[in-house]
Amino acid sequence: MLPEEARWWHRLETTARTLFAQYGYREIRVPVLERTQLFKRAIGEYTDIVEKEMFAFDDRDGLSLALRPEATAGIVRAAISNGLLHNQRHRFFTFGPMFRGERPQKGRYRQFHQIDVEALGYDGPDVDAEMILLTARLWRMLGIERVRLEINSLGTPEARAGYRAALHQYFSEHESALDADSKRRLSGNPLRILDSKNPEMATLIGGAPLLTDYLDEGSRIHFQGLCARLDEAGVAYVVNPRLVRGLDYYSRTVFEWVTDALGSQNAVCSGGRYDGLVAQLGGPPTPAIGWALGMERVILLMQALACDAPSQDPQVYVVLAGPAAMATGLQLAERLRNEMPDLRVEVDLGGGSIKSQFKKADKSGALLALVLGDDELAKQVISVKPLRSGLEQETVSFVDLVAALKKHLVGIA
Ligand code: ATP
Ligand code: MG
Repeated sequence: MLPEEARWWHRLETTARTLFAQYGYREIRVPVLERTQLFKRAIGEYTDIVEKEMFAFDDRDGLSLALRPEATAGIVRAAISNGLLHNQRHRFFTFGPMFRGERPQKGRYRQFHQIDVEALGYDGPDVDAEMILLTARLWRMLGIERVRLEINSLGTPEARAGYRAALHQYFSEHESALDADSKRRLSGNPLRILDSKNPEMATLIGGAPLLTDYLDEGSRIHFQGLCARLDEAGVAYVVNPRLVRGLDYYSRTVFEWVTDALGSQNAVCSGGRYDGLVAQLGGPPTPAIGWALGMERVILLMQALACDAPSQDPQVYVVLAGPAAMATGLQLAERLRNEMPDLRVEVDLGGGSIKSQFKKADKSGALLALVLGDDELAKQVISVKPLRSGLEQETVSFVDLVAALKKHLVGIA
């Protein structure tokens, strides 16, 4: 990830930090490496991630470790092992790399990065709605359009058991039309078949029974509550009854922000409620909800939609002719940084001809060159040369330099 790319990451990260502060989310950092068993238990055996995508290996003592494929399991593990869940509620966020052995393509990588958000101890649906409002605000802050919100309810595990049986029956009747992955999932977890990315399975999946028809009363009310909060806030959504998500730990609310601007890697942010996971991993029963956003995909979207990102180019490039100028130039640059802390100043280190230094100044993207040679030094002045406008070069005394720069950079910095 080279600097030209990194400035987009900077924009996304700083915007997200501002947003999380606005909503009372605190940063948590968890390990990249965890026991493989944690992910198997949390994410579920019959998921793409656990079946074929984990980078897992045995350590020297024969303990199986894995590079984390997602952040929720590690955060829940950390909350349990630090005793954070006894009559407490937490709103967490984290940023970082995740690892999945997928076929690399645009928007899909084996090391990718997520912004991950979790609210532990909240049973909703107000927190469900607030989380979605937060993501909607993030798109507005970044200038992202062309994203669409899909929501669904998976109901309770009990309700899902009834649905699972209906699905099992339906797909068994069409077993010859199933692909190899789906056949394996038929007995393991037929819900996963709905999450298939194989286009040849689309028609069969289209005819499958709907989870909505099996929803329990509590989940139905919860879902209505979420829809009402979103309606009141004016957040548009589509109820997609086939949205099941790729991880087993979800219950009730699931949601996904999708875009039509990135080809087949269309999910930019997805999440849902996981009321059973904390207890399943050995903690006290704790309702929870979370989501993760694919940073690469959001950045591709920002670039495709011509959003803006901060420049890392210097504004001022200091050209120094001769050893005496080099010494004074370093000091002058320090003074500028003291007095104009936001100014980006690059000093041409190491000498070289004036001509080559100007070439570097031009290439750096700087708006102004400051030129200091023996003549200027003798008079305690410096030349200010605009590099990107037709404005005239001017000579200013050292003491007037800050004022002169402020004047030059007004409106363009
Ligand atoms: P997909 O359906 O695209 O495989 P997923 O359902 O596996 O996504 P999640 O596990 O919910 O994705 O992860 C949350 C977000 O992380 C996704 O919405 C997506 O933006 C991003 N993401 C997931 N896998 C990758 C990957 N291999 N490379 C880049 N981004 C990814
Ligand atoms: Mg996936």
